[in-house]
Amino acid sequence: MTTDLTRASAAELADGLARKEISSVELVQAQLDRIAAVDGAVHAFLHVDAEGALASAREVDDRRAAGDEDLHVLAGVPIAVKDVMATRGMPTTCGSRILEGWVPPYDATVVARLRAAGLPILGKTNMDEFAMGSSTEHSAYGPTHNPWDLDRIPGGSGGGSSAVVAAYEAPLAIGTDTGGSIRQPAAVTGTVGVKPTYGGVSRYGLVALASSLDQAGPCTRTVLDAALLHSVIGGHDPMDSTSIAAPAPPVVESARRADVAGLRVGVIKELGGEGYQAGVRARFDEAVALLEGAGAEVVEVSCPSFDYALAAYYLILPSEASSNLAKFDAMRYGLRVLPEGVDAPSAEQVMAATRDAGFGDEVKRRIILGTYALSSGYYDAYYGQAQKVRRLISNDFAAAFDKVDVLVSPTSPTTAFKLGDKLDDPMSMYLQDVATIPANLAGVPGMSLPSGLADEDGLPTGIQILAPATQDERLYGVGAALERMLVQSWGRPLLAQAPDLTALKGA
Ligand code: GLN
Repeated sequence: MTTDLTRASAAELADGLARKEISSVELVQAQLDRIAAVDGAVHAFLHVDAEGALASAREVDDRRAAGDEDLHVLAGVPIAVKDVMATRGMPTTCGSRILEGWVPPYDATVVARLRAAGLPILGKTNMDEFAMGSSTEHSAYGPTHNPWDLDRIPGGSGGGSSAVVAAYEAPLAIGTDTGGSIRQPAAVTGTVGVKPTYGGVSRYGLVALASSLDQAGPCTRTVLDAALLHSVIGGHDPMDSTSIAAPAPPVVESARRADVAGLRVGVIKELGGEGYQAGVRARFDEAVALLEGAGAEVVEVSCPSFDYALAAYYLILPSEASSNLAKFDAMRYGLRVLPEGVDAPSAEQVMAATRDAGFGDEVKRRIILGTYALSSGYYDAYYGQAQKVRRLISNDFAAAFDKVDVLVSPTSPTTAFKLGDKLDDPMSMYLQDVATIPANLAGVPGMSLPSGLADEDGLPTGIQILAPATQDERLYGVGAALERMLVQSWGRPLLAQAPDLTALKGA
C-alpha cells in the first residue's frame, strides 16, 4: 500500500484494515486532515462530521481487535454522502436554503446500510439545489471547484461527491443520478461513477427529484471500489415500493474477472458526432479500439429515438419535480418566511413567501415548467407525449440489446467548462446530459470511467458503458477490463496526473 493513506483505493485500505496494518481511526484522521488542507479551495463538503466519523471508526477498530468475524470487507473505510440523502442527526439540505437547518430524524436506507457495514461517514457533499444542474453552481451554498482546475466546474448535480474522491478527500462517495448526476461529474473529474438499474438501490430517504428516474450509486476512483460499494448499498428494500425484489447483482465477482473476450459491444450512432468535443471523441475511439484489441466484437448500433430523449426528460423531470417539491410548504421542514407588511398572513401567503425566498432560480424554473406541463388541457400534449417518447427509447434499448451485450458512448460531450460559462444559458447546461439521460428514461444501468485527457485542454474525458436492466455486473466486467488496459497505457492512474492541490493558490 502507498504510504499516503488518502491515495490508496478502498480495496487496498480494506486489505490493510483486515491485516491490521492500519486502523480505521488512522484512516479517518488522514481524510479529515486532507479535508482541512484542501476543502477550503475545493468546497466539496457542506458538512463534515469529524466526531461522528471518528466514533464509528473507533467502534470498528474495537470490533476488529475483539476478533469480530462478521465485519464487512469495507468496515472502517470512510465515505462521503451526497446531501440529498437523509442522515439521522446530521444536517441534510439538498443544496437548498429551504432545508437549511433540517436535521432528519431517520437514515435513508443507503445510509443505514453504510452504517451497518461499518463505513464511517465523513460528511455531506455539495450539490446543485435539489439535484437540478450539471455544474454544482446551483447550490445555494456556493459552487464546488474541479480539483483538476479550480476555475472549472466539477460537473453536477453531484459535483461534490465526485470532487471529494478526485481530491483524495475520501476514497468513496455516494451520488444520485436522475439524468446523469453521477456519470457526468465522474467524467469531468477523472473518476468512476455508476448509476445502477432503476430499483436496484433503495430510494427510501433519498429526497426525491423525479421519482421515476432517481437512482443512488457509487462515486469512486476505481471500478473495483465502485463494485464493493454497490454491493453494500444494493439489493431489495421493503421500504421502497419500486425496489427490485432481488439481492445486489454479483458486481464484485465481475469486476475481479474483468473480461471482454467475445463480448459484443455496440457504439451508439446517435451519441458522439457533432457537438462532442474533439478530445472527448478521440479518447472514446481509442478506448473502443482497446476493447476490440482485447477480443470484443464492436459494431455500430442506431437508437433513433435518443434524439428526443432530452426533450422528453425536460418535460417528465419538471412534472415529477413540481409535484415532489410541493411538500416544501413552510409547515413541515426547514425554512419559514413571513411575508413583509402582512399582519395576519394566511397559510398560502407564508407558503408563497417561503418558497420565493427558499428556492433558487433553476428550481423555480422547473416547478413552473412542470406545473404547466401537467395542467389540464396541456397534459396530453406535453407529459403524455413525453411518456410515449420514453417508451420509444426503451424500445430502442431493447432492440439494441438484442444485438449486443453492452452499449458505449462518450459520457459527456465536453470536458469541464469554466465556472459561470453556462449559468445564463440553461439549454447549453441541459445538453451536458444528452448522452446520460436515455439510461434514466429506460431504467438501465450505466457507468462512466476515465478515458483519458483531451489534447485541447488537458482535462479528463469519460466513456459511458450501458447494460440491460438488472445486468449491472456487465458494466463492471467491461469497466474493469478497460480500466486495466487504459491505466497500463498511461503508465499510472489518470488521477495521478492531476495537479497537486496543496501546492495550488488558495488551497
Ligand atoms: N443535469 C441533469 C438535470 O439537471 C441531471 C440531474 C440529476 O441527475 N440529478 O436534471
